[in-house]
Amino acid sequence: MSTQTLPDLLSLTPGELEELMLALGEPKYRAAQMFPQLHRGVLPGQMSCLGKSLRQRLGRETVCRLPRIERRLVSRIDGTVKYLLSLADGNCVESVLMQYEHGKTICVSSQVGCRMGCRFCASTIGGLVRNLTPGELLGQVIAVGQDCGDRISNIVLMGIGEPLDNYENVIKFLRLVNHPAGLNIGYRHISLSTCGLADGIDRLREENLPITLSVSLHAPDDQARSAIMPVNRRYGIDRLLASCRVYFAATGRRISFEYTLIAGKNDSVAQAQKLARLLVSRLRGREGHGMPIHVNLIPVNEVAGTGFVHAGREAVRRFAAELEARGIRATVRRTLGADINASCGQLRREFAAQQTAEPEDPKDPSAAPQPAPPVTGA
Ligand code: SAH
Repeated sequence: MSTQTLPDLLSLTPGELEELMLALGEPKYRAAQMFPQLHRGVLPGQMSCLGKSLRQRLGRETVCRLPRIERRLVSRIDGTVKYLLSLADGNCVESVLMQYEHGKTICVSSQVGCRMGCRFCASTIGGLVRNLTPGELLGQVIAVGQDCGDRISNIVLMGIGEPLDNYENVIKFLRLVNHPAGLNIGYRHISLSTCGLADGIDRLREENLPITLSVSLHAPDDQARSAIMPVNRRYGIDRLLASCRVYFAATGRRISFEYTLIAGKNDSVAQAQKLARLLVSRLRGREGHGMPIHVNLIPVNEVAGTGFVHAGREAVRRFAAELEARGIRATVRRTLGADINASCGQLRREFAAQQTAEPEDPKDPSAAPQPAPPVTGA
């Protein structure tokens, strides 16, 4: 039987795990024994509470594999760690671990590649390969947590991929990672960033999860936005901001807007003023109930081949000042891991290029895969 058809233990809810146990002729309570251990990275073969025959059967009839750490780059500037992780089928994604005062935050990938086509972004250059499963999303948190040996308290879905383009799996992952018997990471400690799939925002609103939503806006009008973000031709700014307004009215959760500053494209004073007018008029209207508006300015990370250039420090400062002067909170995102190219998508591309260029080369031992050490004990 192909492993693809076998149940993936890390993708199962406690209820689904119970059903699986019953189907295997085991008592339901096995699921309650296994779920917390699985989420700590203990493989069924290492679970001493299970009999040998069940362990063997689970080994044959289910899959349970954490992403394997292929590369680990540690920033000398701020300790940010960037991981290249390989999945069971050999595809790679990236996760980034950041240390903030309030704890460790992991940035996870939601897809192998991306089909959204944002022109400044490295993750989308080769298109979409496939969606990640809930277990692969969770596996990033578990594998990186094991590697750093510390509790991860926050998650941002801002790695490779568009989370709302892998909707069901991402929602299932959110419920799994929040489960009290598992990693128990609070929804308020989870952020999801979208390039603006408005129908996905509408669906997310209905889930009633108190996560933080970030919307990648990056331009103040349709013309400028469509030029850098093809998704804007499907959901223009009016439609997108209408979804944001309703999302806030229904959930009371404020949305933060990401705005990547690119020299000569979207960083002028006139564009800052236009952005302020746009946000105030669309989000502070009657339905918006005075939604607090927060814009996160991100100096563009220059990706080879895109031709986009970082807006200068002065342009960033002026842009922020224009927004603030119009009552919009603007923060300039601190760049973490500048020396390890910590924004996602670039390491995966480099690794893939190396693999195709040098298929016969013995692996450099310093870069050899380092499987995360197994954690045992319940
Ligand atoms: N697909 C989601 C998550 C992707 S990455 C989204 O689009 O929101 C998270 C953020 O990084 C997004 O705001 C994205 O537009 C931004 N980003 C991508 N490439 C970048 C680059 N080269 N420089 C700066 N920000 C970038």
